[in-house]
Amino acid sequence: VEFIHCGFPEILNENLKRAGYEVPTPVQMQMIPVGLAGRDVIASADTGSGKTAGFLLPVLVRALEEVTALILTPTRELAIQIEGQAKELARGLCNMRTALLVGGMPLPQQLHRLKQNIKIIIATPGRLLDILKQQVIQMSGIKVVVIDEQQVLDILNQIPEQYQTLLTSATIPASIEQLAQEILQNPVRIIL
Ligand code: AMP
Repeated sequence: VEFIHCGFPEILNENLKRAGYEVPTPVQMQMIPVGLAGRDVIASADTGSGKTAGFLLPVLVRALEEVTALILTPTRELAIQIEGQAKELARGLCNMRTALLVGGMPLPQQLHRLKQNIKIIIATPGRLLDILKQQVIQMSGIKVVVIDEQQVLDILNQIPEQYQTLLTSATIPASIEQLAQEILQNPVRIIL
């Protein structure tokens, strides 16, 4: 199976090719169709398995349908990497603006950026909680949530409506299992 058989828009196929992605990794093979179908996902696979593109590709396709996504990740470094990969894969796609909401960078620029029709918010929990206090994000507009970490219930509780959740983790310890039970709806389990 190659990416060109996933039914992605042509520009996305070209971006994948340019990035050197030809064949989906095993976790992508399972995550992409489920993510595109709008189902919740809980995926466990090692670092380096391609989980990031596994959630980014469905997020990009949904963003083309005018859906806003929130990607929560534990560290600034991971957030920067995820944004970099999102931008690489989104090149040439219209209205695909990303916002990086992380600590250690000036808050005013991040607040300003949020006013620009953002489709993909990539955030660490600390900075996002600070920003939520200032009420500049419409959490009601978020329809896809990617959880790349555990400490997120406070944030998820502020998103009022139904949304699709894609949860990834290197392992699924009891704490994440409990979180999943609370927030995911009949998730497809992908364990590699
Ligand atoms: P990740 O596990 O998401 O951190 O990805 C590990 C590395 O694999 C990253 O550098 C990606 O750019 C790369 N990668 C992800 N998916 C593919 C793919 N299908 N083909 C080739 N490289 C990939």
